[in-house]
Amino acid sequence: MTVKGAQVVIVGGGVTGLSAGWWLARQGAEVLVLEKFIVGWEASGRNGGGASHSFSPLFLEEQRLWPQMDELLGYPTEFQPCRVRIGLTDENMTMFRRQMAIAARQGFKAELLTPQQVRELVPLAGDNVIGGAFYHYGGHANPQRTVQAYAWALQDLGGRILQHCRVTGFRSQGGRVTAVETDRGEFGCDSLVIAAGPQLGELAGQLGAEVPVAPARAEMIVTEPLPLMKHGGTDGNALYGRQTLRGNLVFGGGPHEWLDEAPVGARPATTPLTRNLAGRLLELFPKAAHVRVIRSWAGIVENTPDGRPILDRLKTVPNTVVATMSSIGFGLSPASGRAIADLVLQGRCDFADLTSCRLDRFANLDPDWRQDRSWISPDARASSAGSPLRTSQP
Ligand SMILES: Cc1cc2nc3c(=O)[nH]c(=O)nc-3n(C[C@H](O)[C@H](O)[C@H](O)COP(=O)(O)OP(=O)(O)OC[C@H]3O[C@@H](n4cnc5c(N)ncnc54)[C@H](O)[C@@H]3O)c2cc1C
Repeated sequence: MTVKGAQVVIVGGGVTGLSAGWWLARQGAEVLVLEKFIVGWEASGRNGGGASHSFSPLFLEEQRLWPQMDELLGYPTEFQPCRVRIGLTDENMTMFRRQMAIAARQGFKAELLTPQQVRELVPLAGDNVIGGAFYHYGGHANPQRTVQAYAWALQDLGGRILQHCRVTGFRSQGGRVTAVETDRGEFGCDSLVIAAGPQLGELAGQLGAEVPVAPARAEMIVTEPLPLMKHGGTDGNALYGRQTLRGNLVFGGGPHEWLDEAPVGARPATTPLTRNLAGRLLELFPKAAHVRVIRSWAGIVENTPDGRPILDRLKTVPNTVVATMSSIGFGLSPASGRAIADLVLQGRCDFADLTSCRLDRFANLDPDWRQDRSWISPDARASSAGSPLRTSQP
């Protein structure tokens, strides 16, 4: 098979890479996305669909774009605005107040709810509610629909997507990447975007750049459909998720299950954590006690050491942009794709200050950053207990 290269080659057909490709194609760039499985196979197709990230530098653009995305893309994402948060503890209410204050500083409205107001808005809530919050921002969309929408919209603009094509390396000349090597041949490029989720670190490493990303498993459960609530974006009790348009409750939420490396190829397995999720969902929605859990899945989330995105051009290979959103990439994707397109085409982002997303903030990162945060698997932790794993010790 012959597929020629492109002006911009993007590694990764998740929401970050696809959105970037679509924004680039909108501006007339010739784009090729290379995906090792199928688009949305990893976290992008398996997440909670939440779009409410007030602490991100991309928040304003995230909120501006989501309500327009169906029209801009020309395909449905099932986006629905607003979010109801249910408080079961004083700590929950403190967190809601903090989030509301951050959003208010950026011009977004929210209000606290009494237990009675929560129960009126959320028929599945129970007597254990102590309060809540209504965010007139945020919202949620269907991850699978959104991935497809980006992919189709990109192709409508002439962009190409090659699935089942694993990137294995890069060819460089004069400090620039000139071609991407894959298990299906080589593709020339003028610019490269690496948006490979948890695999970003390994691929950027091949270009001599250290990009710290740690993988963790996160799981979700799905119930039988229930009558539609007024606001499908309702959560709390350390759960995130939504009610689908069909009525299913789709929820996930911690703890992160740390992995030493992202599994390549295998479908990530679920664990007994799904029972814990079901128990917490029951506390959140006591009136849904009668419904059955019908499905569950796991996905791998990408995590940077400070939880902030990495969105930057590589200093040593300046025609390469590296991008990862650290666990909140679905909601940020309309904005992250636009930011990546800006970085590729003009070397800077005009609509958001990406200083906090630069790679050089990790220049002095301790090599043992994952151990220091206990972001390693239980197996690795057990085996390191008796052996000197730390490499930074004198
Ligand atoms: C259970 C769960 C719930 C979540 N809930 C939310 C939420 O509610 N809101 C939110 O904003 N975020 C949520 N997230 C996080 C969000 O899904 C991710 O941040 C986002 O999908 C990352 O998108 P991405 O495109 O950067 O990476 P990915 O989705 O990981 O995509 C990267 C792609 O690159 C491909 N790839 C990797 N290596 C190669 C290679 N060598 N060659 C070719 N292709 C390669 C992979 O196959 C993959 O398709 C959740 C994640 C999970 C797992």
